Formats: sequence, C-alpha cells, structure tokens
Amino acid sequence: MGTTVVKLNKEKLKEAKQYYKAYISSRKIPYAAFFAKKDGITITAYNSGKVMFQGDNEKQEALLWESMPTESTKKTATLPAGFARKSIMGSDEVGNGSYFGPLIVCAAYIDKSHLDALKKLGVKDSKMLDDKQILKLAPKLESSIPFQKLVVTPKKYNQIQPQYNAVGMKVALHNQCIHLLLEKISPQKPEAILIDQFVQETTYRKYLKNEKNRVTQNLYFITKGEQYHLAVAAASIICRAEFLNSLKQQSQEVGIELPSGAGSQSDKQAAKIIKKGGIELLANYAKLHFKNTEKAQKIAQKQN
Ligand code: MN
Repeated sequence: MGTTVVKLNKEKLKEAKQYYKAYISSRKIPYAAFFAKKDGITITAYNSGKVMFQGDNEKQEALLWESMPTESTKKTATLPAGFARKSIMGSDEVGNGSYFGPLIVCAAYIDKSHLDALKKLGVKDSKMLDDKQILKLAPKLESSIPFQKLVVTPKKYNQIQPQYNAVGMKVALHNQCIHLLLEKISPQKPEAILIDQFVQETTYRKYLKNEKNRVTQNLYFITKGEQYHLAVAAASIICRAEFLNSLKQQSQEVGIELPSGAGSQSDKQAAKIIKKGGIELLANYAKLHFKNTEKAQKIAQKQN
C-alpha cells in the first residue's frame, strides 16, 4: 500500500469532487473538501488543494490529477538546470481578460538567498491563493522585494488601445517594467529574466522592435511561469492585489459593483453605467473594445 500526494488548484479540485461524486463517503475529516473510496483507493482532498491517494496502485489514480502534465516537463527543459533556485526577475500581468478594471503588469526580483523566506511567507502560484490571502500577501511582498508595477487604467487603456493592439501593449509594459526594475536593482543582475508567456517569443521580439529601452538579453518565456520561479508568482500576486483593490475602489467611485471577467454580469453592470452617464462615463471603468460594450448598449436601449 502506498501514498501519493498531488496539489490541485481550485478549479481542478472542483473537477475532482465532481469526478468522484459517486464514491464520496459521508465521513467527515477536518479541513477535507471530500473523502472518497474508489476501487480500494482512498482519496482525501483537502481545502488547501492537497489530495492524498492511498492504496494499491494509487499512483495511477493520482497521475490523473498530477498538476504538471508531461507536456510541461518538456518545457522545463528549455529553462537552465536548477532554475527555481536561481536569482531571477519574473514578470506577469493581470486584468487583460477582464472588461472592468485596469491592466497591470509587474516585474519582481528575487535573490536566491530570499527564496526560502518568501516560501515561508506563503508566496506561491496565485491560483492556489484566494483573494483574501492575496490582499494580505501583496503588501508584505512589496515591502520585502524589489518590484516594478505599471498600471494602465481603463481610461488610459481606451486612449492607447486604438494604436497599440492588446499584444503590443503588453509587450511594451513587460519590457518597461523589466527595464525599470533592472535599473532599480543595478549593479545587481538577475541570472535570468522569466516572462510568464502570453505570446510566442518571436512575436514578443517583433513588437519589442518598436520599443525604447529594449531588454533583449537573457529572456525566457514559459506558460504558467509561476510554477517555475517564485519571482513570477510574486509578480502575479502584486498584480492581482492591485487589480482587486482598483476594482473595489472604482466600484465605490461609480456606485455600481464592477465584476471581474467578461461575462453577462459585466454587460448588465455596464448597462447601468451607460444609463447613468453614457459611454463617456463607461470609458473610465471598462475596456471599451471588448464585445461587452455592444451588449451593454443593447441592454441599456431595451430598458429605455
Ligand atoms: Mn500570466
């Protein structure tokens, strides 16, 4: 009999609960999201995302849920050996897919001597953290590591979006954050710079040609970058906290609750803003080129 533990994010944990629905036992276990018995294997899933598989051949069952599929092991090969333990600058962005709220990019630098302390502080993949944890962690991070954050408010976004497409804008912001942070930490230098990949490297470099202060050396691109170095995880946490705070502050300002994402709730709330002050008012809170704008206009018209 063996034990295998895997760590799942919130989404996957939900998926797992659904998957084992028919096998879930009523037995209550402290901090457990569910407890199931299937084919002689007991599965204990904790709210933290940790899932413990126990039994014979438990490994195979656990492999179903292994958070890093074989595909990403292949990608690891593109990073230098021992990458997670190096002194790295990482960058990430948040808000790109949300109709309301700013677009935020952040670069963070973590010296290898600080890795363990940050891990202890609770820095990890932001998808494993809830909003409350993120809001608590971000100020601690901001006071303990060098970082550079750039915030594009919806108003500003709408002004520059017609010239810059979304990818070009993100490239410019990542590059600028990295450039500014390199200046901040100089004469220290990171062993490498890891960008949480949002576009092919060749495309990134193509857009980079339009930029001043280009950083072209020692760049690495990988999706789910926060799993490969805490610097990307830290950058992501700082971005996320800024996004949440900004959305809350903007909701208060306009007196209408602004949801994150780009679903039908966003259309509904945008319609309320249109009725209050037209597209002009909406332009302060939403990324107007999203399809949500058109849908919101239709809703507002119907209600008139
Ligand atoms: Mn990202």
